[in-house]
Amino acid sequence: RAKAQGKNRYMVHSEEFSNQTFQSFSLEQDLRVALEQRQLLLHYQPQFDLKSGELLGTEALVRWQHPERGLLAPGEFIELAEETQLIIPLGWQVIELACEQVASWNEQGLKMPCVAVNISPQQLLQMDFVEKLNALVDSQRISRDTFELEITELMIMQDPDLAMLQLHKLRESGYRIALDDFGTGYSSLDRLKHLPLDRLKIDQAFTRDIGRNSRDEAVILTIIALGSALGIEVLAEGVETQAQLDFLCNNACNSVQGYLLGRPVAPDQLTLEVLS
Ligand code: C2E
Ligand code: MG
Ligand code: MG
Ligand code: MG
Repeated sequence: RAKAQGKNRYMVHSEEFSNQTFQSFSLEQDLRVALEQRQLLLHYQPQFDLKSGELLGTEALVRWQHPERGLLAPGEFIELAEETQLIIPLGWQVIELACEQVASWNEQGLKMPCVAVNISPQQLLQMDFVEKLNALVDSQRISRDTFELEITELMIMQDPDLAMLQLHKLRESGYRIALDDFGTGYSSLDRLKHLPLDRLKIDQAFTRDIGRNSRDEAVILTIIALGSALGIEVLAEGVETQAQLDFLCNNACNSVQGYLLGRPVAPDQLTLEVLS
């Protein structure tokens, strides 16, 4: 009896295993098709200045309109894309989509001061990344400072010298640069002061605990002070409540992004002022 149970357990286990392997394999095939057939799209989440309440820009967040599974969030495919190198073509499609959207807003006379795009470590560490980016942005006749490139501490840790070189090239080319999910990695402060950064984005893990955890509040205050000392703007991500917004406002955080102020939405659902 015990033997039968054991065997049964083994069968269940092996079935799960092969299902999982098959699933990620088919997702990889699907992602290749998605890139060919352009099934990716971007949602945009607004970012606001805390003092004036003005729209500072939007963050472009990738979505995958999967033919059977529906709209997939990046949590379901970015890791796979990174493991399979598909992140390189995926990253270019995201940048192309963002360029097309900015060009379309411009044509319609809509104000979009800035679009932030997430860049993967592998993308940034490609030697020809900056040259290709310049060619793409310039071909759409978009001003380069419309784009803010979001990078992570992880990327800087992977290859500090190359990352530094690429970031300086990007800055010299006219792009804005933001450090995303700040506070969750292990950036050395010594390196940080040499990075050409326009913005630090406080990770939502800290914002979430405002009013609940004084240690997280202390981290936020420290990041705000650091940004102010280094002349770098600070944006808090993941603002969901009025209490969080008040805390950030009272403590001189520069800008905010979060569900309280606006969820990521399709571009036609954003309310933008018409240029006059
Ligand atoms: P991220 O860059 O830190 O983006 C913020 C994430 O937090 C987004 O999730 C956004 O929808 C979510 N968020 C915004 N406000 C709130 C809030 O108030 N509460 C909560 N709970 N969440 C909020 P999303 O769109 O699922 O993206 C997840 C991550 O996927 C991004 O984190 C980014 O690291 C990655 N990602 C998204 N788009 C791209 C892309 O085009 N390329 C690459 N390489 N990565 C991307
Ligand atoms: Mg981001
Ligand atoms: Mg983030
Ligand atoms: Mg994140």
